[in-house]
Amino acid sequence: MEETNLKKCRNCTYDVKKGIRRCPYCGIVNPSVDIKDVFQMIFIVVLVMGIYTYFQ
Ligand SMILES: [Zn+2]
Repeated sequence: MEETNLKKCRNCTYDVKKGIRRCPYCGIVNPSVDIKDVFQMIFIVVLVMGIYTYFQ
């Protein structure tokens, strides 16, 4: 599979460059960042912090 640097914009679903600040099509900020990924990251951070404080 070919490695591409493109991701679908979460708003207009056009292909945008990964990590781009603003979608050139619809103007949304951080179009390549998926809300699900953000929540997953927050969940993991909270989980790790919880485990860390639990074992202290
Ligand atoms: Zn867009």
